Amino acid sequence: MTRRLTGFQPTGHLHLGNLIGAMRPLVAAQDRPSIAMIADLHALTLEHDPSRVRENTLTVATVLLAAGVDPSRTAIIANSQIPEHTELHYLLECVTGYGEAARMIQFKEKSAGGGNVRLSLLTYPVLMAADILVHDIDQVPVGDDQSQHLELARTIATRFNARYGPAFTVPEGIRPESAARIMDLSDPVRKMSKSAPSAAGRIGLLDPPETIRRVISRAVTDTVGVVRYDREAQPGVSNLLDILRACTDREPGEFTSYGALKREVTDAVEAVLAPIRARYAELSEDPSHVREILAKGRASVQPRAAETVRRTREAIGLLN
Ligand code: ATP
Ligand code: MG
Repeated sequence: MTRRLTGFQPTGHLHLGNLIGAMRPLVAAQDRPSIAMIADLHALTLEHDPSRVRENTLTVATVLLAAGVDPSRTAIIANSQIPEHTELHYLLECVTGYGEAARMIQFKEKSAGGGNVRLSLLTYPVLMAADILVHDIDQVPVGDDQSQHLELARTIATRFNARYGPAFTVPEGIRPESAARIMDLSDPVRKMSKSAPSAAGRIGLLDPPETIRRVISRAVTDTVGVVRYDREAQPGVSNLLDILRACTDREPGEFTSYGALKREVTDAVEAVLAPIRARYAELSEDPSHVREILAKGRASVQPRAAETVRRTREAIGLLN
């Protein structure tokens, strides 16, 4: 059976894009073995606040549970808690070229400002490859922003297998439907992001109803004046229609004004987020519960990860 891994960086507040593009597909596919990985190691590649990273890791795990991820079927893990990830990371660095890592678009973008570029920012895609390969994953849902990194993971796995003998499953990237890509409400040609400098276009999963209403009412539209789905000519309106479709699970009806559309989107988003908020509040009463879930997740995946590392060590020439 196929094994899937979906990653979340604990870099900030999870938003509606994360829910529609990643969490809901994860919840919908819980009949197959899946891992929800919080990439806390990846959050250390840029300037970070230690207590914030720890807090975000627990928050992301809690939100995953609140959104319906069932820990008895999907392992929820933090990559820092499973040392096999970092051990495999090093072994994979030994089959990756410096040029291959330096060519990654995200590295170029994030290091462009100069300043204090961490070495881990360069090697981050190799850690991502380890995150996937260590668990024998064969399917990774990826958006455009991660497809180059997944390609590198495939290259590394294929090269290792050819050179040192079969150690890895070569993972396949599966693309979320384009409608699952939620755009920034204040700049609808960019995707909604945790790390966007302004929160004006982001709907946080734990935002109170007033904030949701305000952000949607200020969503950028256009001067066409007709509610029509046209991603090119009317990206803002189309994004609102995508959100409405995703939140109601049906085709949107007709709208006579942008105001009417925004009101319906607000109600639909609130209907989806209210139960998540409520469940999150309940779960937050017992923070030790979330830590236990992470420990259980780790225990459930570690034997296989340890076996992958053993196999890799053997193949590459280390003593076991
Ligand atoms: P960052 O800005 O820190 O990269 P992010 O918002 O891109 O944060 P990630 O933690 O990188 O969030 O991604 C978590 C998951 O959510 C991934 O599966 C990613 O493909 C998905 N995702 C992220 N943003 C969107 C979006 N706007 N629409 C749909 N899916 C998204
Ligand atoms: Mg991202």
